[in-house]
Amino acid sequence: MTEDERTDTIHLLADVARGVIELTSVARSSAFRLPYPPSLQLALDRVVLAGLAQGQPVPAGVPELLSWCRQRGPAGWLLGMSGGSLTTDARLIHPGAGEPTRTCAELASLGPHGVLEQEAETLLGELADTCGTVERFAACRDFLIRRPVILRFDPMEMLQPAVAQTWKLVKGLYAQVADRFPADGLVYRCTGCLLLAKFITPDGPWCEGGCPPGDRELESSHQPGQALALPFALRLFLALPGRTEQIVRSRLMEQARLLPLGLGVHHVTGQDGTLRAFQVHDREQPVLAARRAAEVAARLDGPLDVVVPDGLAARPGYRQDFTCALPSGAQVCLLSVSEFTAPPTDRMGRSHA
Ligand SMILES: [Zn+2]
Repeated sequence: MTEDERTDTIHLLADVARGVIELTSVARSSAFRLPYPPSLQLALDRVVLAGLAQGQPVPAGVPELLSWCRQRGPAGWLLGMSGGSLTTDARLIHPGAGEPTRTCAELASLGPHGVLEQEAETLLGELADTCGTVERFAACRDFLIRRPVILRFDPMEMLQPAVAQTWKLVKGLYAQVADRFPADGLVYRCTGCLLLAKFITPDGPWCEGGCPPGDRELESSHQPGQALALPFALRLFLALPGRTEQIVRSRLMEQARLLPLGLGVHHVTGQDGTLRAFQVHDREQPVLAARRAAEVAARLDGPLDVVVPDGLAARPGYRQDFTCALPSGAQVCLLSVSEFTAPPTDRMGRSHA
């Protein structure tokens, strides 16, 4: 398989992913309504064209396309294609929960037509402008990371002096949780990732952050209509890695300084006295993560450390796939949390790729 074919497959799946994201952003009930969003119809046309060109079976319509999203790994979409360097077990829609997967969200953010991570960046950029100072923006950003889903909104709590100013700046980002999440009127949140969860699926509990089943405990709202949540884009691209980012920041010898660029980059002083820039990622697909990291490094115009949870760095092939997918000359270095926060002697000799 050539590099062009790999790129074609990944972009074809990215089109489908954007259609799925648009569908869930407009669907207000558990039953998908007609007509389907134009991006999904367009993605169907592209999958059909690609399949017909190779004389292969194609989905008969959007419902079958959606069932492909649930059932087929990347290599199952078109025979003879490897799946464009995505992990083989990835699906675009979680078969049990019926929700877009993290892979779907990451694919939807790929390239110049990317929609989801870009939405998170736009919302944060607007918040930074409204805040006026980096300090105020950092306080708001931390608030969003700690509370992506508010199960029991308490107006009195938000009027407390310590949070009132922050709440006034961020409250416009919260909205009622989409109708397809509550079960018997109650919204569930995972205590591990703090994101939305569904209590009962055919596979047991499910959460947006993909926590290991053993670590996953769910808590629920008390009354229907009480829960608020950030948009999916901020839940997945800010709050999910934000949990790890707060651990990293707490372990550093000095306070990291926020640079309000995109999702947020932090600066710390390295051992040699120069500034090091880092961003924490928590992404399922190393190839897609590497491409986005290279874009951030290019905007920074300098080296970037991408810090990922230890468990992710230890996944077979993750580091290798990430590093191989970096464009030549990209000043990006992938480190686990333990590596990044280790005492200086343990880190001697590391350099940027
Ligand atoms: Zn979770």
